[in-house]
Amino acid sequence: MSLSDNIPSLTIAAVREGLLNKHFSAKELAERALKYAEAENPKTNAYLTLAPERALAAAAKVDDAIAKGGYVGVLAGVPLAVKDVIVTKGLRTTCGSRILEHYIPPYNATAVDRLEHEGALIIGKTNCDEFAMGSSNENSAFGPVRNPKALDRVPGGSSGGSAAAVAQGTAVVSLGSDTGGSIRQPASFCGVVGVTPTYGRVSRYGLVAFASSLDHIGPFARTVEDAATVLQVIAGHDDQDATSAFAPVDDYHALMREPASGIKIGLPKEYFDGLSSETGAIVDKAIRHLEKLGCQIREVSLPHTKYAVSCYYIIATAEASSNLARYDGVRYTIRTEAGTLADMYRNTRGAGFGAEVKRRIMLGTYVLSAGYYDAYYKKAQQVRTLITQDFREAFEDVDVLVAPVSPFPAFRIGEKVDDPLAMYLSDVYTLTGDLSGVPCMSVPCGESSAGLPVGLQVFTKHFDEATMFRIAHNYEQSRAQ
Ligand code: GLN
Repeated sequence: MSLSDNIPSLTIAAVREGLLNKHFSAKELAERALKYAEAENPKTNAYLTLAPERALAAAAKVDDAIAKGGYVGVLAGVPLAVKDVIVTKGLRTTCGSRILEHYIPPYNATAVDRLEHEGALIIGKTNCDEFAMGSSNENSAFGPVRNPKALDRVPGGSSGGSAAAVAQGTAVVSLGSDTGGSIRQPASFCGVVGVTPTYGRVSRYGLVAFASSLDHIGPFARTVEDAATVLQVIAGHDDQDATSAFAPVDDYHALMREPASGIKIGLPKEYFDGLSSETGAIVDKAIRHLEKLGCQIREVSLPHTKYAVSCYYIIATAEASSNLARYDGVRYTIRTEAGTLADMYRNTRGAGFGAEVKRRIMLGTYVLSAGYYDAYYKKAQQVRTLITQDFREAFEDVDVLVAPVSPFPAFRIGEKVDDPLAMYLSDVYTLTGDLSGVPCMSVPCGESSAGLPVGLQVFTKHFDEATMFRIAHNYEQSRAQ
């Protein structure tokens, strides 16, 4: 395979094949990918920072290993983009916020270390909603991202830049973060694969905290296979994160190639209300396709789903108000001077945070305050347990749950910015995955008549990513034929 014109359609396997057969060097690939990203970025604003020095240095190591017959990592030479809430040593990490505009982290996230160890080339840091709070990428302090499939539309959020980079073809794979849907929803809006692993499957060390009990790191890719490869590299216990799990990591590639026939799929009936008719028809067609592959389909119920939005926006804002207390003008970059310490805090936070972040800090502080804690925060945690139990009970009867990702495809930039509640409602189908901690993903399943991508959501039991990939891979491959 030659490099010319192929950058936007490369896969991990194609990169490997090209490098090992000397069709191109990692240096050539890095240079092309960077040039392409630089040329394409003005269209979408997907990247906040490009990292030519880092990518070229990593490429030189890969070329050296190939020349000397050394270890060639599973991601050798693969152009990778990283959401700007994941820290990269020596490379600016802004979280899409003015308050961290000039922040240069002194260390790498564990996921970043693991990917670079396998030879990945980080070509840049991607735009996102400020501190990952949003569903449209319009809350970034550095301007919105445009959906590469329809430039007047949002790419989804909060990992909009990471989804757009893969959809646009400037990166082969990317990392995002998901607290309430921020990987699956943008994957669905941009027509790429997005995976939210089991909570604790991937270390959160170096993921700037939004709501710690809900935050996940996960991959975006153009194929299920590539997403599985990235997860294989970043999954597994890490001493640096006390919530990272010891559960063994399956061999995803081997297991996902098994046929899908015989898998029991549940359709949670609560997820099929309120769907736009077009999205409903596309998702229905995907379900019928799974049936043709030999899956057994039945209806199930997750009765507490209706409480997910309220429950999530209490827990997430509570944790955010605590996590964001650290941006005080003393540590981390910007400070707005004032006569007293309290005024300095106030002015720094007033100037550094955007409107949505402030709204969440206020909501979170309120639900945690004396007198309201039991009524709101504690109650929300109890509801969260019920939502998790819904999943456990459903998984006694079926292996997989399948549902839409979002009630509608990508909306227009500006369409929902003035109505935070309408924006929050776009998360109805994704929040339960994070609240319960089960693995879930979005796999492309069609396009609306306007050419807007629609994703199919797949959920499995805690730590059973292998079955999730098996369903998604079989679906993707048989559809492509
Ligand atoms: N849209 C949700 C929110 O605004 C989810 C964000 C996320 O998953 N990071 O909080």
